[in-house]
Amino acid sequence: MDNIVVLNVDFNFGYGESTIYPVILQDENEMILVDCGYADFLLMIEEAACKKHVDFSKLTKVIVTHHDYDHMGSLAAIKQKYPHVQIIASAKDAPYVAGRLKSLRLQQAEQTQSILPPEEQEAGKAFQNILKSIENVEVDITVKDEDYFPWCGGIEIVETPGHMPGHISIYLKKFKVLISGDALAIENGNLEIAAPQFTLDMAEAKESVLKLLNYDIQKIICYHGGEYQDNIPAALRNIENIF
Ligand SMILES: [Zn+2]
Repeated sequence: MDNIVVLNVDFNFGYGESTIYPVILQDENEMILVDCGYADFLLMIEEAACKKHVDFSKLTKVIVTHHDYDHMGSLAAIKQKYPHVQIIASAKDAPYVAGRLKSLRLQQAEQTQSILPPEEQEAGKAFQNILKSIENVEVDITVKDEDYFPWCGGIEIVETPGHMPGHISIYLKKFKVLISGDALAIENGNLEIAAPQFTLDMAEAKESVLKLLNYDIQKIICYHGGEYQDNIPAALRNIENIF
């Protein structure tokens, strides 16, 4: 059994083919999904898991790196279909996942609506409506920086704020693998900070990238872009220089 299985979930919203890379971590007792796609993506995730010979019905936990709609969009559907599955998020992000605080992405969209040019007003409103339609889910386990769990060979929580304040990445020490969520992305083959326009605090995001230099990492799995494994310390330092 592979402890780490990267899913390729392909989709097209009308502006070209795109792929997200949720990750399955598994051992004899646990099957943990890290991030779960946009709304209505459960079937696609199940199919992507099946293609990699993963029996998704064994799912025990979902870790949400942050409350963006492409990372928690199908969380409610998963909880509905698999009620025993435990939802994990950072203590800072949990109130947004649960809907007790208003989505930071929606707040950002509302604030920027008034400065959008006239031709983008409609798209801005549509984006807000998508964000408002995301179903919230109670978080079962809240985590913080350096929390360690023995599941799937051992997983460590790394707080990587910037994209959002409660953003977490997952470090798998035994495999020297980092699951970065949106702390990092791959753009044109290069490791970068994910979508700067959606990064709520760029200075903090850069700090988080530098923090990752403290971890022995041979492979980074980015939700947007997939796997990266060329000279990671140099790639991380390079990000600091270009942003
Ligand atoms: Zn994302």
